[in-house]
Amino acid sequence: MSKQFAVIGLGRFGSSVARTLFEMDYEVLGIDEDEERVNDAIEHVTHAVVADTTDETALREIGIRNFDVVVVAIGADIQASILTTLQLKELGVKKIVAKAQNERHGQVLYKVGADRVVFPERDMGIRVAHNLISTNVLDFIELAEDYSVAEVVVSNKMVGKTLRQLDVRAQYGVNVIAIKSGDKFNIAPRPDDVIAANDILVVIGNNMDLKEFEEQA
Ligand code: ATP
Repeated sequence: MSKQFAVIGLGRFGSSVARTLFEMDYEVLGIDEDEERVNDAIEHVTHAVVADTTDETALREIGIRNFDVVVVAIGADIQASILTTLQLKELGVKKIVAKAQNERHGQVLYKVGADRVVFPERDMGIRVAHNLISTNVLDFIELAEDYSVAEVVVSNKMVGKTLRQLDVRAQYGVNVIAIKSGDKFNIAPRPDDVIAANDILVVIGNNMDLKEFEEQA
């Protein structure tokens, strides 16, 4: 059986997570204490219920333990987000993913039992900033503190050259893991593959090396 998800907090972030999972054919339970939010979400999830998730009894009644992953997408009410995460942990939920407003909030969420903490505003800020320094950078995703993946549009000086000729690993210390050419996605680029105009390189590397690559390549 495929994974079952519960999403608590159907604001912009939570409803987007819930809807995306539902559109990928997963079973998704949406939960919010606000009835209007639940009604708005109902067509985009498998089930939706009104509940205050800081209340342990309510969580038990929902059978929250039976879900493979529970996403805590409560934002502004930091106390409710922390209490909910704590209750989920105490009830034995296998995997808890929680959204944090800031670093401190994130640290507390880990302490009370979140398995993964996401920082959507911070991450989107980082992505937008990279796109601002170089319009060639389409996307930027942090993998670890110092390592990221970037999608970079090729510059004129790369066009017509092979990966071997560009030798980005030696020149910049980054690795090309894929090349997007229009609709085609080459996920195993070979040294002799030739770069065409408008291609997009997906590169992985240390943030400082990526910065140099974004600026100079
Ligand atoms: P977004 O940026 O995703 O819109 P936000 O940071 O504005 O989110 P909030 O609106 O604070 O987030 O919270 C998201 C949802 O969580 C709201 O719909 C709110 O009703 C719900 N929520 C808050 N506290 C609880 C709770 N204790 N139990 C269930 N749902 C809750």
